[in-house]
Amino acid sequence: DNAQPKKPGWIRVKAPTSEGYRQTREIIREHKLVTVCEEAGCPNAGECWSQGHATMMIMGDICTRGCTFCNVATGRPDELDAFEPGRVADAVAKLGLNHVVITSVDRDDVEDGGAEHFARTIRAIRHRAPDTTIEILTPDFLRCGPEALEVVVAAKPDVFNHNLETVPGLYPEVRPGARYFHSLRLLQRVKELDPSMFTKSGIMVGLGEDRQAVGQVMDDMRAADVDFLTIGQYLQPTPKHHRVDRFVTPEEFAAYEKAAYGKGFLMVSATPLTRSSYHAGDDFARLREN
Ligand code: SF4
Ligand code: SF4
Repeated sequence: DNAQPKKPGWIRVKAPTSEGYRQTREIIREHKLVTVCEEAGCPNAGECWSQGHATMMIMGDICTRGCTFCNVATGRPDELDAFEPGRVADAVAKLGLNHVVITSVDRDDVEDGGAEHFARTIRAIRHRAPDTTIEILTPDFLRCGPEALEVVVAAKPDVFNHNLETVPGLYPEVRPGARYFHSLRLLQRVKELDPSMFTKSGIMVGLGEDRQAVGQVMDDMRAADVDFLTIGQYLQPTPKHHRVDRFVTPEEFAAYEKAAYGKGFLMVSATPLTRSSYHAGDDFARLREN
């Protein structure tokens, strides 16, 4: 039986109608940028874009991987665009962001996995918008040497995010082509390379995982010194994608959040509509004030 559970009332999508939303869309178009907000059909776009919070996806809109939860097209990507870092930096300055999240497709076709392109983008934003804090959400650099990660860390983003996405038992069906312990080790290495850098990771729930496995993922992340955690409900982008096993209730999310703080995470967001980049700036600003 492949029937999907019915979407509960707590998954609500607000229509994107505000002037702020239109301005953000304009700036993104004008700079020929791709956003994960649009690629993923994120339910928070109405809210985020009204405040200029667009998460840019660099290195194109075609990915060399085919994660079964993800709506980004799989195939052979175009060559890297050397002018993209400058356009991203320009857009960040125009959007007037306090905090920006930059993510990318996976580029197994490029020798360094796109590490240098990430580093260039970080440097360009620092130059053009020096007051903006930078969070990157990177691929796993699985087929690269250790230098790839070093290049990205050396560019000094404020927050280094790499999502584990799901529990290890579901990797073969959810994240084929990735390795749970490789991703975990990547997060640990970021902290070893630069102990002052904040690290962040996240998972989706409702894919078929059980609570105990989620608790184990939290413990693994803490063992790798991960600082921030996000947990959100998986939503199926199209009927061809991984099915929703169930909708996790707001009460269960609250229990995950409580458990995560108990395990020592500095910042936790666990709600049905939490995404890696949802309110990332507000949360980070709060943390820096304290
Ligand atoms: Fe974009 Fe993230 Fe907001 Fe979704 S939560 S609209 S991906 S910034
Ligand atoms: Fe989507 Fe990232 Fe997986 Fe590519 S690597 S398919 S962009 S989740």
